[in-house]
Amino acid sequence: NVKSQGRNGAVRFMPHMSAEEQRRRNLEFDLRGAAARGELCLYYQPQYSLPQRQLIGFEALVRWQHPKLGLIPPMQFIPLAEESRLILEVGNWVLHEACRQAAEWHFPERRLCMSVNISALQFEQPDFVAQIQSLLGQYGLNGENLALELTESMVQRDQAHAADSIQRLQDLGVRVALDDFGTGYSSLSLLQNLPFHLLKVDRSFLNDLLYSSSHFNRAFTLLEVVMKLAHNLNMRVVAEGIEQEEQYELLCRLNCHSAQGYWFARPLPAEAAAGLL
Ligand code: C2E
Ligand code: MG
Ligand code: MG
Ligand code: MG
Repeated sequence: NVKSQGRNGAVRFMPHMSAEEQRRRNLEFDLRGAAARGELCLYYQPQYSLPQRQLIGFEALVRWQHPKLGLIPPMQFIPLAEESRLILEVGNWVLHEACRQAAEWHFPERRLCMSVNISALQFEQPDFVAQIQSLLGQYGLNGENLALELTESMVQRDQAHAADSIQRLQDLGVRVALDDFGTGYSSLSLLQNLPFHLLKVDRSFLNDLLYSSSHFNRAFTLLEVVMKLAHNLNMRVVAEGIEQEEQYELLCRLNCHSAQGYWFARPLPAEAAAGLL
Protein backbone atom coordinates (compact mmCIF):
# COMPACT_ATOMS: atom_id res chain seq x y z
CA ASN A 1 0.00 0.00 0.00
CA VAL A 2 0.84 3.64 -0.26
CA LYS A 3 2.00 3.94 3.33
CA SER A 4 4.57 1.15 3.15
CA GLN A 5 5.80 2.42 -0.20
CA GLY A 6 6.35 5.74 1.45
CA ARG A 7 8.16 4.09 4.28
CA ASN A 8 10.24 1.97 1.92
CA GLY A 9 11.06 5.11 0.04
CA ALA A 10 12.22 6.75 3.24
CA VAL A 11 14.23 3.69 4.21
CA ARG A 12 15.95 3.60 0.83
CA PHE A 13 16.56 7.32 1.07
CA MET A 14 18.02 7.39 4.58
CA PRO A 15 21.00 5.09 4.03
CA HIS A 16 21.95 7.24 1.05
CA MET A 17 21.86 10.35 3.20
CA SER A 18 23.84 8.82 5.99
CA ALA A 19 26.47 7.49 3.58
CA GLU A 20 26.99 11.03 2.31
CA GLU A 21 26.98 12.33 5.86
CA GLN A 22 29.45 9.57 6.83
CA ARG A 23 31.72 10.54 3.95
CA ARG A 24 31.72 14.17 5.02
CA ARG A 25 32.43 13.26 8.63
CA ASN A 26 35.34 11.04 7.63
CA LEU A 27 36.74 13.80 5.48
CA GLU A 28 36.31 16.34 8.26
CA PHE A 29 38.05 13.98 10.69
CA ASP A 30 40.94 13.51 8.25
CA LEU A 31 41.16 17.26 7.68
CA ARG A 32 41.93 17.82 11.36
CA GLY A 33 45.69 18.24 11.48
CA ALA A 34 46.10 17.86 7.69
CA ALA A 35 48.02 21.15 7.55
CA ALA A 36 50.38 20.08 10.35
CA ARG A 37 50.95 16.71 8.66
CA GLY A 38 52.00 18.50 5.48
CA GLU A 39 49.08 17.28 3.39
CA LEU A 40 48.01 20.70 2.08
CA CYS A 41 49.68 22.37 -0.83
CA LEU A 42 49.23 25.49 -2.90
CA TYR A 43 48.87 25.75 -6.66
CA TYR A 44 49.58 29.09 -8.27
CA GLN A 45 47.68 30.57 -11.18
CA PRO A 46 49.55 33.42 -12.89
CA GLN A 47 47.85 36.78 -13.41
CA TYR A 48 48.79 39.08 -16.28
CA SER A 49 48.40 42.75 -17.06
CA LEU A 50 46.42 43.69 -20.16
CA PRO A 51 47.23 44.29 -22.89
CA GLN A 52 50.99 43.79 -22.26
CA ARG A 53 50.61 40.30 -20.85
CA GLN A 54 53.22 40.97 -18.20
CA LEU A 55 53.22 38.68 -15.18
CA ILE A 56 51.90 40.68 -12.23
CA GLY A 57 51.41 37.93 -9.68
CA PHE A 58 49.67 34.68 -8.79
CA GLU A 59 46.49 33.53 -7.13
CA ALA A 60 47.27 30.90 -4.49
CA LEU A 61 44.77 28.03 -4.64
CA VAL A 62 44.81 25.34 -1.97
CA ARG A 63 44.69 21.58 -2.63
CA TRP A 64 44.62 18.67 -0.22
CA GLN A 65 46.85 15.69 -0.91
CA HIS A 66 44.81 13.09 0.97
CA PRO A 67 46.87 9.99 1.85
CA LYS A 68 44.20 7.60 0.50
CA LEU A 69 41.92 9.70 -1.71
CA GLY A 70 44.56 11.63 -3.66
CA LEU A 71 44.41 15.30 -4.63
CA ILE A 72 41.17 16.90 -3.40
CA PRO A 73 40.05 20.24 -4.93
CA PRO A 74 39.08 23.10 -2.59
CA MET A 75 35.37 23.02 -3.39
CA GLN A 76 35.27 19.55 -1.80
CA PHE A 77 36.81 20.49 1.52
CA ILE A 78 36.70 24.28 2.05
CA PRO A 79 32.93 24.24 2.76
CA LEU A 80 33.52 21.39 5.26
CA ALA A 81 36.35 23.31 6.83
CA GLU A 82 34.13 26.36 7.12
CA GLU A 83 31.34 24.44 8.87
CA SER A 84 33.74 22.91 11.38
CA ARG A 85 35.89 26.01 11.99
CA LEU A 86 38.89 24.00 10.72
CA ILE A 87 39.12 26.79 8.15
CA LEU A 88 41.01 28.83 10.72
CA GLU A 89 43.78 26.21 10.75
CA VAL A 90 43.66 25.70 6.97
CA GLY A 91 43.46 29.42 6.22
CA ASN A 92 46.31 30.21 8.53
CA TRP A 93 48.48 27.61 6.85
CA VAL A 94 47.54 29.01 3.41
CA LEU A 95 48.45 32.57 4.42
CA HIS A 96 51.83 31.51 5.81
CA GLU A 97 52.70 29.30 2.86
CA ALA A 98 51.64 31.92 0.30
CA CYS A 99 53.76 34.58 2.04
CA ARG A 100 56.72 32.22 2.47
CA GLN A 101 56.59 31.41 -1.24
CA ALA A 102 56.24 35.06 -2.23
CA ALA A 103 59.34 35.89 -0.18
CA GLU A 104 61.29 32.96 -1.66
CA TRP A 105 60.33 34.20 -5.13
CA HIS A 106 61.57 37.72 -4.28
CA PHE A 107 58.21 39.42 -4.70
CA PRO A 108 59.39 42.74 -3.16
CA GLU A 109 62.22 43.14 -5.70
CA ARG A 110 60.02 41.94 -8.55
CA ARG A 111 57.02 43.97 -7.39
CA LEU A 112 54.72 40.97 -7.76
CA CYS A 113 51.52 40.30 -5.87
CA MET A 114 50.24 37.09 -4.25
CA SER A 115 46.45 36.81 -4.06
CA VAL A 116 45.01 34.72 -1.25
CA ASN A 117 41.40 33.64 -0.79
CA ILE A 118 40.05 34.38 2.66
CA SER A 119 37.05 32.81 4.41
CA ALA A 120 34.46 34.66 6.46
CA LEU A 121 35.55 33.16 9.77
CA GLN A 122 39.15 34.23 9.17
CA PHE A 123 38.17 37.74 8.18
CA GLU A 124 35.94 38.05 11.24
CA GLN A 125 38.77 37.29 13.68
CA PRO A 126 39.16 40.44 15.80
CA ASP A 127 42.92 40.44 15.23
CA PHE A 128 42.81 39.60 11.50
CA VAL A 129 44.44 42.82 10.32
CA ALA A 130 47.11 42.54 13.02
CA GLN A 131 47.80 38.95 11.87
CA ILE A 132 48.31 40.17 8.31
CA GLN A 133 50.60 42.95 9.46
CA SER A 134 52.75 40.54 11.46
CA LEU A 135 52.87 38.09 8.52
CA LEU A 136 54.26 40.81 6.26
CA GLY A 137 56.94 41.57 8.86
CA GLN A 138 57.77 37.91 9.42
CA TYR A 139 58.36 37.25 5.71
CA GLY A 140 59.81 40.63 4.79
CA LEU A 141 57.04 41.50 2.34
CA ASN A 142 55.54 44.85 1.49
CA GLY A 143 51.80 45.33 1.66
CA GLU A 144 51.78 45.60 -2.14
CA ASN A 145 53.01 41.99 -2.38
CA LEU A 146 49.77 40.66 -0.92
CA ALA A 147 46.15 40.81 -2.07
CA LEU A 148 43.25 39.31 -0.17
CA GLU A 149 40.17 38.01 -1.98
CA LEU A 150 36.87 38.32 -0.16
CA THR A 151 33.45 37.27 -1.39
CA GLU A 152 30.25 39.19 -1.16
CA SER A 153 28.52 36.92 1.35
CA MET A 154 31.27 37.32 3.91
CA VAL A 155 31.24 41.11 4.07
CA GLN A 156 27.46 41.45 4.04
CA ARG A 157 26.74 40.66 7.65
CA ASP A 158 28.68 43.44 9.31
CA GLN A 159 29.49 46.01 6.67
CA ALA A 160 30.72 48.65 9.09
CA HIS A 161 33.28 46.25 10.55
CA ALA A 162 34.23 45.00 7.07
CA ALA A 163 34.71 48.56 5.82
CA ASP A 164 36.98 49.32 8.76
CA SER A 165 39.10 46.17 8.26
CA ILE A 166 39.37 46.75 4.51
CA GLN A 167 40.49 50.33 5.08
CA ARG A 168 43.14 49.24 7.60
CA LEU A 169 44.41 46.60 5.17
CA GLN A 170 44.64 49.19 2.39
CA ASP A 171 46.54 51.43 4.84
CA LEU A 172 49.11 48.62 5.08
CA GLY A 173 49.26 48.64 1.28
CA VAL A 174 47.49 45.27 1.07
CA ARG A 175 44.98 45.21 -1.77
CA VAL A 176 41.54 43.87 -1.10
CA ALA A 177 39.60 42.27 -3.93
CA LEU A 178 35.91 41.48 -4.25
CA ASP A 179 35.99 37.94 -5.69
CA ASP A 180 33.33 36.44 -7.96
CA PHE A 181 31.93 39.91 -8.60
CA GLY A 182 28.46 39.93 -10.09
CA THR A 183 27.33 36.50 -8.92
CA GLY A 184 25.73 37.59 -5.65
CA TYR A 185 22.66 39.60 -4.78
CA SER A 186 24.00 42.92 -3.61
CA SER A 187 27.27 43.58 -5.39
CA LEU A 188 26.35 47.15 -6.18
CA SER A 189 25.27 48.16 -2.69
CA LEU A 190 28.49 46.63 -1.34
CA LEU A 191 30.52 48.82 -3.66
CA GLN A 192 28.75 51.82 -2.23
CA ASN A 193 29.94 50.98 1.29
CA LEU A 194 33.21 49.09 1.00
CA PRO A 195 36.52 50.49 -0.28
CA PHE A 196 37.68 47.58 -2.45
CA HIS A 197 40.77 48.07 -4.56
CA LEU A 198 40.04 45.28 -7.02
CA LEU A 199 37.00 43.73 -8.66
CA LYS A 200 37.35 40.15 -9.82
CA VAL A 201 34.71 39.67 -12.46
CA ASP A 202 33.38 36.15 -12.22
CA ARG A 203 34.17 33.88 -15.11
CA SER A 204 30.47 33.30 -15.81
CA PHE A 205 30.48 36.81 -17.35
CA LEU A 206 33.12 35.75 -19.83
CA ASN A 207 31.17 32.79 -21.15
CA ASP A 208 29.27 34.97 -23.64
CA LEU A 209 32.20 37.23 -24.45
CA LEU A 210 32.65 35.47 -27.77
CA TYR A 211 31.49 36.74 -31.16
CA SER A 212 29.76 33.42 -31.79
CA SER A 213 27.56 33.79 -28.73
CA SER A 214 23.99 34.94 -29.34
CA HIS A 215 24.36 37.04 -26.16
CA PHE A 216 27.62 38.65 -27.25
CA ASN A 217 26.27 42.22 -27.27
CA ARG A 218 24.80 41.87 -23.82
CA ALA A 219 27.98 40.40 -22.37
CA PHE A 220 30.09 43.14 -23.95
CA THR A 221 27.78 45.93 -22.73
CA LEU A 222 27.69 44.50 -19.24
CA LEU A 223 31.47 44.43 -19.02
CA GLU A 224 31.68 47.95 -20.46
CA VAL A 225 29.51 49.14 -17.58
CA VAL A 226 31.58 47.24 -15.01
CA MET A 227 34.75 48.83 -16.40
CA LYS A 228 33.19 52.28 -16.23
CA LEU A 229 32.00 51.67 -12.69
CA ALA A 230 35.42 50.46 -11.59
CA HIS A 231 37.12 53.40 -13.27
CA ASN A 232 34.87 55.96 -11.60
CA LEU A 233 35.22 54.31 -8.18
CA ASN A 234 39.00 54.10 -8.62
CA MET A 235 39.10 50.31 -8.68
CA ARG A 236 40.99 47.92 -10.93
CA VAL A 237 39.36 44.97 -12.68
CA VAL A 238 40.67 41.42 -12.91
CA ALA A 239 38.85 39.08 -15.28
CA GLU A 240 38.82 35.42 -14.24
CA GLY A 241 38.50 32.45 -16.51
CA ILE A 242 39.91 33.60 -19.86
CA GLU A 243 39.89 30.43 -21.93
CA GLN A 244 40.22 31.79 -25.48
CA GLU A 245 42.31 34.35 -27.34
CA GLU A 246 39.15 36.11 -28.51
CA GLN A 247 38.21 36.84 -24.90
CA TYR A 248 41.67 38.25 -24.29
CA GLU A 249 41.35 40.58 -27.29
CA LEU A 250 37.90 41.73 -26.24
CA LEU A 251 39.04 42.39 -22.67
CA CYS A 252 41.89 44.49 -24.05
CA ARG A 253 39.36 46.48 -26.06
CA LEU A 254 37.37 46.97 -22.86
CA ASN A 255 40.51 48.31 -21.14
CA CYS A 256 40.34 45.59 -18.52
CA HIS A 257 43.42 45.85 -16.30
CA SER A 258 44.41 42.23 -15.76
CA ALA A 259 43.32 38.66 -16.20
CA GLN A 260 43.89 35.03 -15.38
CA GLY A 261 42.58 31.86 -16.95
CA TYR A 262 43.37 28.59 -18.64
CA TRP A 263 44.27 30.43 -21.88
CA PHE A 264 47.30 31.88 -20.05
CA ALA A 265 47.90 28.99 -17.66
CA ARG A 266 46.14 26.60 -15.32
CA PRO A 267 46.91 26.75 -11.61
CA LEU A 268 50.42 25.26 -11.38
CA PRO A 269 52.42 23.46 -8.68
CA ALA A 270 55.12 25.69 -7.15
CA GLU A 271 58.01 24.34 -9.25
CA ALA A 272 56.15 24.95 -12.52
CA ALA A 273 54.99 28.41 -11.41
CA ALA A 274 58.59 29.31 -10.53
CA GLY A 275 59.47 28.66 -14.17
CA LEU A 276 57.37 31.66 -15.18
CA LEU A 277 59.40 34.10 -13.07
P1 C2E B 1 38.09 31.33 -7.00
O1 C2E B 1 38.78 32.12 -5.96
O2 C2E B 1 37.05 32.00 -7.82
O3 C2E B 1 39.27 30.73 -7.89
C1 C2E B 1 39.20 30.56 -9.25
C2 C2E B 1 38.86 29.13 -9.62
O4 C2E B 1 38.64 29.11 -11.02
C3 C2E B 1 39.99 28.15 -9.34
O5 C2E B 1 39.43 26.88 -9.01
C4 C2E B 1 40.69 28.07 -10.69
O6 C2E B 1 41.38 26.86 -10.91
C5 C2E B 1 39.50 28.17 -11.62
N1 C2E B 1 39.90 28.69 -12.94
C6 C2E B 1 40.90 29.55 -13.21
N2 C2E B 1 40.96 29.84 -14.54
C7 C2E B 1 39.95 29.16 -15.11
C8 C2E B 1 39.48 29.03 -16.48
O7 C2E B 1 40.02 29.61 -17.42
N3 C2E B 1 38.40 28.24 -16.69
C9 C2E B 1 37.78 27.57 -15.68
N4 C2E B 1 36.73 26.82 -15.98
N5 C2E B 1 38.20 27.66 -14.39
C10 C2E B 1 39.27 28.45 -14.11
P2 C2E B 1 39.90 26.04 -7.74
O8 C2E B 1 41.38 26.10 -7.60
O9 C2E B 1 39.24 24.71 -7.85
O10 C2E B 1 39.30 26.85 -6.54
C11 C2E B 1 37.91 26.93 -6.37
C12 C2E B 1 37.52 27.87 -5.27
O11 C2E B 1 37.98 27.39 -4.00
C13 C2E B 1 38.15 29.25 -5.42
O12 C2E B 1 37.41 30.01 -6.33
C14 C2E B 1 38.05 29.77 -4.00
O13 C2E B 1 36.77 30.29 -3.75
C15 C2E B 1 38.21 28.50 -3.17
N6 C2E B 1 39.57 28.43 -2.63
C16 C2E B 1 40.71 28.02 -3.23
N7 C2E B 1 41.77 28.12 -2.40
C17 C2E B 1 41.30 28.64 -1.24
C18 C2E B 1 41.89 29.00 0.02
O14 C2E B 1 43.11 28.90 0.24
N8 C2E B 1 41.05 29.49 0.99
C19 C2E B 1 39.71 29.64 0.78
N9 C2E B 1 38.97 30.13 1.77
N10 C2E B 1 39.12 29.32 -0.38
C20 C2E B 1 39.90 28.83 -1.37
MG1 MG C 1 39.75 33.78 -5.74
MG1 MG D 1 37.06 34.06 -8.16
MG1 MG E 1 34.81 32.52 -9.53
